[in-house]
Amino acid sequence: MRRKLIAGNWKMNGSLAANAALLAGIKAELGEPACDVAVCAPAPYFAQCQAALSGSTIAWGGQDLSAHESGAYTGEVAASMLRDFGCQYVIVGHSERRAYHAETNELVAQKMLRALKAGLTPIVCVGETLAEREAEQTGRVVGQQIDAVLAAVDTEALANIVIAYEPVWAIGTGKTATPQMAQEVHAILRAALAAKNTAAAAGVRILYGGSMKPDNAKELLAMPDIDGGLIGGAALKAPDFLAIIRAA
Ligand code: PEP
Repeated sequence: MRRKLIAGNWKMNGSLAANAALLAGIKAELGEPACDVAVCAPAPYFAQCQAALSGSTIAWGGQDLSAHESGAYTGEVAASMLRDFGCQYVIVGHSERRAYHAETNELVAQKMLRALKAGLTPIVCVGETLAEREAEQTGRVVGQQIDAVLAAVDTEALANIVIAYEPVWAIGTGKTATPQMAQEVHAILRAALAAKNTAAAAGVRILYGGSMKPDNAKELLAMPDIDGGLIGGAALKAPDFLAIIRAA
């Protein structure tokens, strides 16, 4: 049985004051969640998350990391630095990184390995654009994305990764994949994982991301291969994030 994970992706949003209010709002109403909960914050706020969330049931993480261990890589953030601030998770290969920072499948795989080596749980994002979906290329595109990850990871480490299926056309647009559309792709991803190792594949969590909101979360999360959500916009409002956690 896979325990669901609801992870917020704050993207480049927030401030000390806004984060404090958001985290206090979530903590005040969370109780004992029936799923794992995490927030992925911009790097400057890791210390704030650590101070606010240590000892709580909410984990925190980053939104990206360097493929390099350390050294002359101005502006980059190393896996060890995330660990220094108690991060448990790190998003890797988000479509915004792939689109605006030219991250390739191979670079995403390297970043995933760097995260695993540091003891972080990578949340590896895959997903097709609208043009790819309309050209009926979804299976091929996500297949290539997941294959690059699977070629890099050994079977033992496979159990320590999380996959997020995020159709690019659904991110921040208010358009959501129907539960059936999402399940279809999650099943493709599960089959690719199983081709590597059946037992490990059964335990890997595959999140859905793309305009998941309180009013559509329950139906999406009811699908057999949807093991949680990666939440953008709705993670910035405590009542919405809490409602999604309750749906899980
Ligand atoms: C995301 O960016 O990971 C995401 C899912 O965003 P949104 O929920 O706003 O579509």
